[in-house]
Amino acid sequence: MPIRQLSETMINQIAAGEVIERPASVVKELVENALDAGASRVEVVTAGGGLNLIRVGDDGSGISESELELAVSRHCTSKLSTDIHDIRSLGFRGEALPSIGSVSRLTIRSRTAASDAAAEIGIEGGDVSTVRPAAANKGTSVEVRDLFFATPARLKFMKGERAETTAISDIVKRIAIAFPAVRFTVSGPDRTTLELPAGDDSPDGQLTRIAQVMGGEFPENSIAIDAIREGVRLSGHVSIPSYSRANALQQYAYVNGRPVRDKLIASAIRGAYADVLPRDRNAVTVLFLTLDPATVDVNVHPAKADVRFRDPGLVRGLIVGSIRQALADAGVRSATSGAA
Ligand code: ADP
Ligand code: MG
Repeated sequence: MPIRQLSETMINQIAAGEVIERPASVVKELVENALDAGASRVEVVTAGGGLNLIRVGDDGSGISESELELAVSRHCTSKLSTDIHDIRSLGFRGEALPSIGSVSRLTIRSRTAASDAAAEIGIEGGDVSTVRPAAANKGTSVEVRDLFFATPARLKFMKGERAETTAISDIVKRIAIAFPAVRFTVSGPDRTTLELPAGDDSPDGQLTRIAQVMGGEFPENSIAIDAIREGVRLSGHVSIPSYSRANALQQYAYVNGRPVRDKLIASAIRGAYADVLPRDRNAVTVLFLTLDPATVDVNVHPAKADVRFRDPGLVRGLIVGSIRQALADAGVRSATSGAA
């Protein structure tokens, strides 16, 4: 057989296979785009666990009519500077929209502040429509219908509607913790399932958002952390040992505002609590690491929230040391350090 180049649609579907595992992955990409556009309001609407419909609306910068076609083209992004090691936005690959559009029916409707009319563009299973005029306020609304209709094999792997709806709400919560000034809502066909009112970026605003997500009892059962070591800052809140969980689902970690799931961070938290928590219990934690983007690689895997630190020992030491110190300052004594 001769060697031939894959079609654009097939290339996009292959990328979608990696990045778009389930409806919640679409929601993650669209919400991140809204935040990168500076939105102060993000509204998520779903039907059928996101397989029938996902709509994410924002009041961000919008996309101009002349750039709509580029926005859905592969490897086109307004976010990448010239240096892959200096990424400050949540997105940077220019892959999400063309990937989603290759496996669904996608419509983007958008209007910039400078324009007095909106425009929209559609993609159906990879086929891009021409740009049409539309009516909308400033901002962007992305509608995704019939997710995976073009890749039926992927459809078979979906869990039930309930599980997908829960996963969507979980991903919005995870992102929302890092953006306390932004209002987030998630609604199903007939009711709002999550409503996080806008606050502010102050430490108080931060804690209010955390309590909205984690539950009102978290603030009085947690200790604030704020430490800097060699240019790496660790801030956030960690629970006292009596407020623990059977699983680690309520351990949230962020690197430069980006939600991550990282083995090193998880293991450092475990280490910090080793003396005060039984092995089968997990602390509830929200930790923000802020460091020079050049000292952390977020370009490890397109979908998995892995990161690689240039100095893992520094990050681990900072987490273990700061949490232990905070627990000690709060008068938490280790189970083994002698009963009075
Ligand atoms: P990336 O986020 O990696 O740049 P995407 O495929 O997610 O790639 O989006 C492509 C481009 O479309 C973005 O760089 C941005 O310019 C534009 N865009 C997408 N969503 C929005 C939005 N909600 N508001 C404004 N611009 C958007
Ligand atoms: Mg993006």
